[in-house]
Amino acid sequence: MNIILFGPPGAGKGTQAQFIVKKHNYFQLSTGNLLRDEVKLKTSLGSKIEQLISNGEFVSDEAVNTLLKQAITHLKFRDRIIFDGYPRNIEQAINLELILNEFKQTIGHTIFLNVSRDIIEKRIMGRMTCEKCNMTLNEYFNKEQIELHPCGPEHLKKRKDDNLEVVIARYDTYMTATKPILDFYSKNLNFTEIDGAQEIDQITTKIDDILKV
Ligand code: AMP
Repeated sequence: MNIILFGPPGAGKGTQAQFIVKKHNYFQLSTGNLLRDEVKLKTSLGSKIEQLISNGEFVSDEAVNTLLKQAITHLKFRDRIIFDGYPRNIEQAINLELILNEFKQTIGHTIFLNVSRDIIEKRIMGRMTCEKCNMTLNEYFNKEQIELHPCGPEHLKKRKDDNLEVVIARYDTYMTATKPILDFYSKNLNFTEIDGAQEIDQITTKIDDILKV
């Protein structure tokens, strides 16, 4: 079964997805990472995507859905996907249901990491992501881990869209387009809300408990 990690930007979805990948043999499907990979290819689609991401706007459903379908239909990932950053609006939520039904897969757990905007701002402003392994660390809270990072600290980079103006835009978009789809998921028995303001390992322990069920 697959997992949806749901929450505002900076809630810790990517960080927790990486733990689930290591411990529970899952694959992280971060639409943000897939889109940033497309930007790195420097295609014309990539430059349109770059523009939207740097303004904190959504990339078109069409582009994101194509990338998503390629991953869902990949045999290696079958029923072992953590959706991180998808769905982000009601149309994407419906699209996910349709594709999963078509390929006879299910969502086993929907986990909502709930975090307030002031905490998000602090987390995102310090966030550094490794361009090689995608690990995320925070320049204020993880100084030592940054120094000792196995790929080398020079590979930890700030995302261009992690500045205050864009963070506020992304949060507003989350509140208007993404948060309303919680109604769609919160009625299901497999839905769990976790206080995402807790320490990383406390959240990991709660997710471990959920995945044991
Ligand atoms: P993230 O890495 O999840 O914070 O996503 C970074 C940016 O990629 C977002 O601010 C959007 O511009 C874009 N993006 C990621 N996932 C989606 C999605 N499911 N639908 C539309 N745009 C997305």
